[in-house]
Amino acid sequence: MSCVCGSKRIASIGAKCSDLCFTQLPDRPDIDGYVPSNIGIGGGDYVEFDYCLDCGKIQSDEFPITQETVDEFYEGECIDITPKEYDDDGFEILT
Ligand SMILES: [Zn+2]
Repeated sequence: MSCVCGSKRIASIGAKCSDLCFTQLPDRPDIDGYVPSNIGIGGGDYVEFDYCLDCGKIQSDEFPITQETVDEFYEGECIDITPKEYDDDGFEILT
């Protein structure tokens, strides 16, 4: 295996974190639970990916990942993605 940069220095990561994975994605609620399965870093119990030690690129043909693909995970987990509103003091406005 070699990277698009030409390097053959590819590292493999496999970490079992089960439901202790914290994930932040742009414009979506934080996820504190299992590893999202459709954002290119493994899924379920495991964080798994290969990356280039020279340029840092994750070695996967899953990218680019569309917003629709990201949102499929939230829908599957029944997580509300409606944007939250906050008052001047920073407290969430509950509707
Ligand atoms: Zn590389």
